[in-house]
Amino acid sequence: MDKILDTRKVDKFDKLLDEVSSIVLTCHVRPDGDAIGSTLGWMHLLERLGKSVVVVVPDNAPKSLSFLPGFDRMAVFTRHEEYCEKLFKEAELVICCDFNQPSRLDRMQRLLDECLCPKVLIDHHVEPSPFADILFSFPDMSSTCELSFRIMAELGLYSEINLEAATCILTGMITDTKNFTVNCKSPDIYEILQRLLEKGCDKNRIVRLALMEKSYGAMMLEAYALSRKLEIFPEYHGSIICLDKEECERFHYEKGDTEGIVNRPTEIRGVTFSFFLREDSDCVKVSARSVMDFPVNAMCKDIFGGGGHVMAAGAEFYGSLSDCRKMLIESFPKYAHYLKGRTEKLDYFEVKDSNNND
Ligand code: MN
Repeated sequence: MDKILDTRKVDKFDKLLDEVSSIVLTCHVRPDGDAIGSTLGWMHLLERLGKSVVVVVPDNAPKSLSFLPGFDRMAVFTRHEEYCEKLFKEAELVICCDFNQPSRLDRMQRLLDECLCPKVLIDHHVEPSPFADILFSFPDMSSTCELSFRIMAELGLYSEINLEAATCILTGMITDTKNFTVNCKSPDIYEILQRLLEKGCDKNRIVRLALMEKSYGAMMLEAYALSRKLEIFPEYHGSIICLDKEECERFHYEKGDTEGIVNRPTEIRGVTFSFFLREDSDCVKVSARSVMDFPVNAMCKDIFGGGGHVMAAGAEFYGSLSDCRKMLIESFPKYAHYLKGRTEKLDYFEVKDSNNND
């Protein structure tokens, strides 16, 4: 495995771990498999070292992750604010996983800001803000879970990774790489996969539960979005899907239900980028995906003040869904130059209605 970690930082972290006994682990709002997998993974490992550890999340994690060992033990800020505040106050160390800015904790940010104990950041998002005492930031890494495994190994703790910790870490790697189909060029990832399988992880079960299974409503909402709401902009090799609140409610929308929709148009031959706009209670959630390094993070940043990875980015728009869509479409020409030199043909035609009037 390539040695990428700064030994001095790892030593500093090692020393810090030796000195403390009560540790809070936290992650970003609307946590995903990588956020929950990394925090719970560290929890299981640190408990093996005799630490008193608790995972505090800004809001509920998706049901699809409830199979993870330790899931029911997480403290959820939106449900138990005072309790979470107490946990942060009493912590001797806070380990922040899978986010680059304190604002990613949403309303829970205050607890981190007010917390005086040392902080360690373990993350793979670009441009981390320097709020932590020790910063493990690797934007090229497939997932925070992959990075966590590397740090654990470098700390000499590989033998302490039990099946519970391994299951959590593998889950984050699987969800962030879509079962090793994106962001996984590095051969190291497969060595880590091997090490985790050696711990007894059931990879097929993780893929099924964390990545594939969904509710009937979520499946039908996606089908509706693709068949009725997909707009293709042939000139720009781009696509937009908009869903308003009423449409989501019709399909009994639950948090996380629309997660995969933004990816689907990029599966069409020649579609270079895809935007998904969903009307939420107080804003429009914008998510964007692309293929072949088309910079949707630049689009999200310039147009909506958002950000993210080159091929996976997002933003929030405080205005109407139709204004959001309009702003986006009007800005397409500005990014057309990124398409220069691309030769892929777009596979697109208008589907005729059958007009069956029997
Ligand atoms: Mn992640």
